[in-house]
Amino acid sequence: MGESNRVPDNFQLPFAQRPVVILGAGIIGCATARQLLQHGFSVVLVAEFLPGDQDIYYASAWAGAAWHAAGGITADQRYHQAVTHRVMLKMAQDPESGVCVVNAREYLEQEPAPDSAIWGRTVVSKFRELLPRDYSSIFHCGWAYETLVTDPTRHMPFLKKQIIALGGKFIRQRVNSLQELYQMFPDSRVFINASGLGSKTLTDVQDDRCFPERGQNVFLRTDKCNTLYFRNGEEYTYVIPRPLSQGVVLGGVKEQGNLSPEVDLDIAHDEIARAHRLAPDIVPEHPADDAVSYIIGIRPSRRGGFRLDSEQKDDRTVLSAYGFGGGGYAFSYGIADALTKMVEQAERKNVIV
Ligand SMILES: Cc1cc2nc3c(=O)[nH]c(=O)nc-3n(C[C@H](O)[C@H](O)[C@H](O)COP(=O)(O)OP(=O)(O)OC[C@H]3O[C@@H](n4cnc5c(N)ncnc54)[C@H](O)[C@@H]3O)c2cc1C
Repeated sequence: MGESNRVPDNFQLPFAQRPVVILGAGIIGCATARQLLQHGFSVVLVAEFLPGDQDIYYASAWAGAAWHAAGGITADQRYHQAVTHRVMLKMAQDPESGVCVVNAREYLEQEPAPDSAIWGRTVVSKFRELLPRDYSSIFHCGWAYETLVTDPTRHMPFLKKQIIALGGKFIRQRVNSLQELYQMFPDSRVFINASGLGSKTLTDVQDDRCFPERGQNVFLRTDKCNTLYFRNGEEYTYVIPRPLSQGVVLGGVKEQGNLSPEVDLDIAHDEIARAHRLAPDIVPEHPADDAVSYIIGIRPSRRGGFRLDSEQKDDRTVLSAYGFGGGGYAFSYGIADALTKMVEQAERKNVIV
């Protein structure tokens, strides 16, 4: 009998009651918990930070968060983004979710490469190429379409409420290793590591491809918040509307050296100037001080891209889903879907021996 077919002799709880244990309660952990619960699994999330918290290392509290097709990704990764779009489009019918449909205008500095964000035209609605008269002559081309934006200050509490209503449990606890989790849940056979940057320091993971990448955005209060603008090229500038909070998020910046929680006003002024050039109808050159506030968060980035895989460790299955950098929201529900299928496979092996 092979290792994976060994009948576990120490199960105290029946299959249906053994919780799937998720380390991390960011957008990846919470989206996955919701999906597993909807499929009838019992789920426990263990995390230092929970929905509603505001620590700069809890990236999910600070995202823009726009659905934008990523360039340079595999076909499977594109599909994760497409599934996310499908789920979020439905969520947008409920204002409590914090998800909204908005218009988008994307201007490209160069001709799009075949593996660029252009693939997203199969997912978004109302995609059309803009005419040269519709954009500045500094750009090579432009696209208009409808996309989705998520307000994390609403979405994370919404998810927490759904998870609890479906019977999921949150435990606030910092752990130093996955081993600690195995000891906390001796009956569980499936563990999901959705700890974001935590995977750099967990003693039995120590993934040195993970690295922190600081983001700092400006939140501008305005009622002109129905169109997203994105400059795609050497310059990385966006204006992301947040209709339910009556404002727009201006960015962006990615810093590896500076991890300060303090606002860098030079960066803020530069972001306002860039956003003004990109969307002068929305962003004034000198916004009133009381219309401006700041958002600072650390992206859980990973060289080579995010990790999504399954490992067998003795009689436990450990699924890893971390390293989403600046795209965790745009991948979230597709990753939750993929992990749910991986959990089904793992539990099938535990039950059908
Ligand atoms: C300024 C900014 C703008 C962004 N804009 C966008 C955008 O427009 N679109 C988009 O898709 N994404 C965007 N992102 C990226 C997005 O926020 C992240 O990719 C996403 O939030 C990552 O989610 P996560 O669940 O992997 O990690 P996190 O949200 O960081 O959650 C990690 C979880 O693991 C827990 N944890 C870690 N280590 C331990 C431990 N040892 N013990 C216990 N718990 C632990 C934490 O407490 C937390 O609960 C942006 C990010 C920033 C900062």
